[in-house]
Amino acid sequence: MADIGKMTVLIVSSDVGRESSKGRMLEAIKRELESADVSVKAYVSSDSVKIGLRVLGNGADAMMVDWNLQDAPEIVRSMRSVDPDIGIFLMIDPESIDTVPHGILPDVSEYLWILGDTPSFIAGRVEASMRRYRKAILPPMFKRLVEFSEDYEHSWHTPGHTAGTAFLKSPVGRLFHNFFGDRLFRSDLSVSVRELGSLLGHSGPIGEAERYAAKVFGADTTFFVTNGTSASNRIVGTAMAAPGDVVIIDRNCHKSVEHAITSGRTVPVYLLPVRNRYGIMGPIPAGSMSAEAIRSAVAGNRLIGDGDAGPALATLTNSTYDGISYDAVRVTGILGETVDCIHFDEAWHGYARFNGFYAGRYAMFPDGRPPEERPTVISTQSTHKVLAALSQASMIHIKNGRRAVVPALFNESYMMHVSTSPSYAILASLDVSSKMMDSGGRSLTRDSLEEAVRFRQTMARLGDSIASGDPADWWFGMWQPETVRLPSETEERLFTEVPARTLAGEPDCWLLRPGDAWHGFGDLEEGWAMLDPAKVTVLTPGIGEDGGHSGFGIPAAIVVAFLRQRGIVCEKSGDYNMLFLFTMGVTNGKWGTLVSALSDFKRLFDADETLDDMLPDLVSAHPGRYSGMRISQLAEEMHGHMASARQTQIANEACSAIPEQAMTPADAYACLVRGEVEPVAIGDACDRIAATGIVPYPPGIPLLMPGERTGCDQGSVLGYLRALESFDGRFPGFEHESHGVSVIDGVHTIYCIKE
Ligand SMILES: *Cc1c(COP(=O)(O)O)cnc(C)c1O
Repeated sequence: MADIGKMTVLIVSSDVGRESSKGRMLEAIKRELESADVSVKAYVSSDSVKIGLRVLGNGADAMMVDWNLQDAPEIVRSMRSVDPDIGIFLMIDPESIDTVPHGILPDVSEYLWILGDTPSFIAGRVEASMRRYRKAILPPMFKRLVEFSEDYEHSWHTPGHTAGTAFLKSPVGRLFHNFFGDRLFRSDLSVSVRELGSLLGHSGPIGEAERYAAKVFGADTTFFVTNGTSASNRIVGTAMAAPGDVVIIDRNCHKSVEHAITSGRTVPVYLLPVRNRYGIMGPIPAGSMSAEAIRSAVAGNRLIGDGDAGPALATLTNSTYDGISYDAVRVTGILGETVDCIHFDEAWHGYARFNGFYAGRYAMFPDGRPPEERPTVISTQSTHKVLAALSQASMIHIKNGRRAVVPALFNESYMMHVSTSPSYAILASLDVSSKMMDSGGRSLTRDSLEEAVRFRQTMARLGDSIASGDPADWWFGMWQPETVRLPSETEERLFTEVPARTLAGEPDCWLLRPGDAWHGFGDLEEGWAMLDPAKVTVLTPGIGEDGGHSGFGIPAAIVVAFLRQRGIVCEKSGDYNMLFLFTMGVTNGKWGTLVSALSDFKRLFDADETLDDMLPDLVSAHPGRYSGMRISQLAEEMHGHMASARQTQIANEACSAIPEQAMTPADAYACLVRGEVEPVAIGDACDRIAATGIVPYPPGIPLLMPGERTGCDQGSVLGYLRALESFDGRFPGFEHESHGVSVIDGVHTIYCIKE
């Protein structure tokens, strides 16, 4: 098998390095192992081991623990909790074996009698265990890839770089090769290599990996997709709804859902999520999903004829970008009354199944109802976004209900959207991701939840220590409850006073309770929606409780630019909010750096530094505009501009109603292809039909879908686009990027259907 890193064993014993008989034996065992090219990490005290276990998982292939250590049971238990497969050897005298409590017996793999056996015998047993371990933890496809990349010598097929050698024929190619290293190229294989099976045919080790993932993620069938959830959503859209079919679509949907509607020629009926004063989108209320509400939404859609059948498919975003997830059991119950197939776009939610915290809040929840009594449920997940996988790695999970999906037929749509030359590195990363979640999902998710909660509490405490009521004593707000009530208690407690571990384990604390002021979504049904602690929204000053702009404000764009200057990039930002994701890679140190950068921002802001000091990149790009300007001046000017344009409120108005649908997205697209469209300046675009989707970033929520009317000149859609245009003109370097809006000679234009 190819070299996948040196095998490592941890030895924990207070005799390590001692001149005792045991110490000498351990030294001899160490030498034996090292001569077999095993790396040995020996620890005298258990403290460093425990820290290592927590921070690194383990990094070892086996562990030897001395039973004489006082906290041996604890070390064994913590290792087992992060790694169910690893060999744990207990170093113990045979007569003491009955002192090992029953509670930890199952966690121990083998016993070693250090003074009774020879060093080579002991080293041999440990080595054999490490080999078995490596074999056992490699999931099916990755395992075969590792084996195969070694054998692979003379190929006459694609990829044309033939294991990287083509790159070596040119200077730049050589640099490229050096940068990524030999292994990437040797494992970049063609579908002509039979040994790994076929993605399009779901056979061999690749098919095995998909079936393994289905088991891990709780699906009947899983499809690996190497073109992102963008492709996964299109696959689902065209597999489950035929041209002309009605589809129920979350208005807070990703662009790929629009593409599925367009290429699949379906007729969308939108469900509108609630929105709060910050412009953050919440859930679609339960009431809008009832059979009656769906029927009336369909009946009210002028693109749908009377005789048309019921909706073929519903697509919801779960969780939303901002971390709002549904009670999926209730959703499938309510929406399932009218729709037989519900698709949850879970691009951001792939980890939910692995922690009881999210019970019932993800598509593949264990559903005890017989298949004929529940809708078919599909989940699309960007494995690369929130689990550990390479970019573009995505999965489609299907659980059959009333409308059984036949994999071979679903595959027709699948093949329309995926490449015939998938990247094997991406596939292997999907396979590895499944294995990681299978064996360590709970501890991995628990760690990121806890880190997120600690960050949230630290930020809130800093706020408490600063607050005095004086606006100059500002601090960043946190979009989270200020008080929580634990199920076991009757009194509300301050969020900052509950232990982080408790908050990270108690979903009740994160429910969007009806009428709670902090979330700003008004009266939601109890338990309907929950905020995921791992999606952290930090608020900048600027929006008052009443939803209006307050006197003092610091638009998020300024803080984002400052953080970027420090090498900190947030996931997205809105007018006065920034989103930070606590994925599995986030550590204490990483969020500590964020807290200190935010504190620095406050310190420099309060000292009223110049932009030349705080945002040098901005100033050097636009010296005439910003050189010599002070930070407070920029904040005041930008906040004032947004307040007088009512930018945040007008965005909310623009997104609070579905614009008139004049034609389907597919018909609008047909006009586009035939050249029956023209660019129109926003100022002249009153009551025209948009030819493309119009999606301002941030925050990336569709303002208009193709085929929808812009509304009147005084209306909020054009009003919002005008507000963005005037903002972008006035604040170079802070431009919004809006899909569907092109700047022609400084004028913002959109493509409209010719009249
Ligand atoms: C990112 C995203 C997608 C697309 O996923 P990719 O893996 O980037 O192609 C789909 N839906 C939602 C909600 C997303 O945020």
